[in-house]
Amino acid sequence: MSDKNYSFFGAVERSFDKAARFTKWDSGLLNHIRQCNAVLQLRFPIKRDNGEIEVIEAYRVQHSHHKTPCKGGIRFAAEVNQDEVMALAALMTYKCTIVNVPFGGGKGGIKIDPKKYSVGELERITRRYTSELIKKNFIGPGIDVPAPDYGTGEREMSWVLDTYVSMRSGELDAAGCVTGKPITQGGVRGRREATGLGVFYGTREVCNIPDIMSKLSLPLGIENKRVIVQGLGNVGYWAAHFFQLAGAKVIALAEYEGAIFDEKGLDVEAVFQHRKKSGSILNFPGAKHIKHANEALELECDILIPAALENVINEENAPRIKAKIIGEGANGPLTPEADDYFAKKGTIVIPDMYLNAGGVTVSYFEWLKNLSHVRYGRMEKRFTENVHSSILNQIEELTGKKSNAHARELIMRGPDEVDFVYSGLEETMINATHEIMTVWKENPAIPDMRTAAYVVAINKVAIIYAELGIFP
Ligand code: GLU
Repeated sequence: MSDKNYSFFGAVERSFDKAARFTKWDSGLLNHIRQCNAVLQLRFPIKRDNGEIEVIEAYRVQHSHHKTPCKGGIRFAAEVNQDEVMALAALMTYKCTIVNVPFGGGKGGIKIDPKKYSVGELERITRRYTSELIKKNFIGPGIDVPAPDYGTGEREMSWVLDTYVSMRSGELDAAGCVTGKPITQGGVRGRREATGLGVFYGTREVCNIPDIMSKLSLPLGIENKRVIVQGLGNVGYWAAHFFQLAGAKVIALAEYEGAIFDEKGLDVEAVFQHRKKSGSILNFPGAKHIKHANEALELECDILIPAALENVINEENAPRIKAKIIGEGANGPLTPEADDYFAKKGTIVIPDMYLNAGGVTVSYFEWLKNLSHVRYGRMEKRFTENVHSSILNQIEELTGKKSNAHARELIMRGPDEVDFVYSGLEETMINATHEIMTVWKENPAIPDMRTAAYVVAINKVAIIYAELGIFP
């Protein structure tokens, strides 16, 4: 989290300026893109379970209206502040642009530690926050669409939806006012694991680029790569899960209570269940303890995935980090100083605004589903299966050979919703990787992948204004 002397928004601006030098745009236009278009500061009262009234501090920031609706999560954390929400909203603009999701960036934050509130209190806070957003016209399927972020999930999103629906009765597309909802309330299959899956797809794609891997003296591909994940929340857990599934070795996992290490590779699901049961990641059978969680970041490994909060890798600890690839699962885990250090050292930093864009990409799929009022696959599944069956029958007739039952099942299968979501996300992440890498290759003066990603993002936003004739 941002401390008092550290401006997260300032860090985003600094990265933006670093990249803007590699674009051709007028400084006035660049300045317009950089700023937050609207900042909503809220203070509202809620009644605690003990009868006391507490005043809650909350925010919603819309960074860019170059496309609408605005899009971005709502964070519940004790350290939430305006600077942080502004930075996260700006990152959302660049994130959406890079993965071709047609939204402007937004973000919300409520300054509470959710662990210190009962479920009933959290519900009252979420509902009151939503009605404040409605009053100010800061939420709606075509205006601004929140989603989960740190400290929130499907439960909070269903409260947002229910509050919205009850105040906007009869609005046909109301379900599109928020994403990350439970499936029963218009959510899409695959959204829960989307950010972690995107982190995996993006990192895997970088590991498939021969030039990059030979510069790092690493073999191509993800198999057997040693991975460390910091944070076993929604992003970290799913990223670790997909790395393990693809044959990588998750050698260390870190949480705020400590970290565990096993060079043979940890079983991510077993660790997750152990933590759920015992309340701690520590004392996992067969694993070594690392006393201070942050020391886990400094272990020898190929890939490090910081997937918790911002500012965890900074000027102070960067020189001790040994990973060859750092994939930013969280938003803003590296400070600009750490970035400069790794660019000089030759470590590949895969930036947040691209690598963790899986969440918003699948949110986009959910929003489209809500507007179309139909589950993905409903119209074509049976038709596809019938076509596949006819083709297979023809081949069998022509060759005189029968395929076995397993092969038949595989070939015949028409796509379900989750198949569309996974393949749509995979395609998105692969395309975005190559778009960024092409810009980087074409301009070798660009120091790192983050700067290349910003160049891609700035160009895509700027061209919209330029074509509108608003700016030269
Ligand atoms: N909170 C997530 C992010 O930072 C998801 C945002 C969304 O789905 O709108 O990318």
